[in-house]
Amino acid sequence: MKKFTTIALVTGATRGIGKAIAKALSATDTYIVGTATSEQGAEVISTYFDEDQINGEGRVFNAGSFENTKTLISEISDAFGYPSILINNAGITKDQLLLRMKEEDWDDVIDINLKSVYRLSRLCLKGMMKNRWGRIINIGSVVGSIGNAGQSNYSASKSAIEGFTRSLAREIGMRGITVNTVAPGFIETDMTLQLDEDVRAKMLEKIPLARLGQPKDVASVVKFLASSSGEYITGETIHVNGGLYMG
Ligand code: NAP
Repeated sequence: MKKFTTIALVTGATRGIGKAIAKALSATDTYIVGTATSEQGAEVISTYFDEDQINGEGRVFNAGSFENTKTLISEISDAFGYPSILINNAGITKDQLLLRMKEEDWDDVIDINLKSVYRLSRLCLKGMMKNRWGRIINIGSVVGSIGNAGQSNYSASKSAIEGFTRSLAREIGMRGITVNTVAPGFIETDMTLQLDEDVRAKMLEKIPLARLGQPKDVASVVKFLASSSGEYITGETIHVNGGLYMG
């Protein structure tokens, strides 16, 4: 098998933002592993890589398990080498007003959205530190900054990712590793398809650019941060929201 100089890992690459990121990172020297929660999803990823002639494959991964995370990273590093670009994209919502929110809905969202970022970053750091080069890009959310009624679990996880990003960036900057968060606004994916028409219309009124975002709007910023053009940016949260929130 051809040797690749860069291995990129994108979690949650079956659809939406993760799929757009996985495609955007395509380069001749890069092998991209995209993850899905099922065999079928992993197959979907491998197929779109093949169709677009992108070097890469889909793999099954559950962000809620440390064992599964360890297995994923050791399999990738044995087969291709340690990932030097890690995109922590996989995320879920379990919305409810706090008064009615079950403890498991709080725990699941914090575990998949936040703790998985700790697990994967920790396991990928070894290879990045050895290479003295790495990129960790976490996908946050505008609601981590502005809040959203019914999403206290989700916004807590996304705000925390920003704090994690700043602290880790300070720990490992000297090793040539940057850590950033990209915080999307309302992007047209399966996640926002669940919203009622009137919630969408109200949201649209608040967006100066007068449209919902597309996954590629987020992917192009991730690509920039992962490239040498973004090498002097670390510990940042970059908002991609059409002006909905101006930090
Ligand atoms: P999406 O369309 O719902 O896709 C979610 C992805 O995460 C899928 O690939 C899914 O895999 C994967 N996933 C779900 N649960 C997982 C688990 N337990 N372990 C591993 N992977 C899991 O989401 P999206 O809208 O593209 O969002 C991607 C990221 O952007 C998320 O972190 C989200 O919070 C953030 N974001 C989205 C928006 C937006 O407007 N869409 C706004 C702000 C932030 P399967 O297909 O196998 O289920």
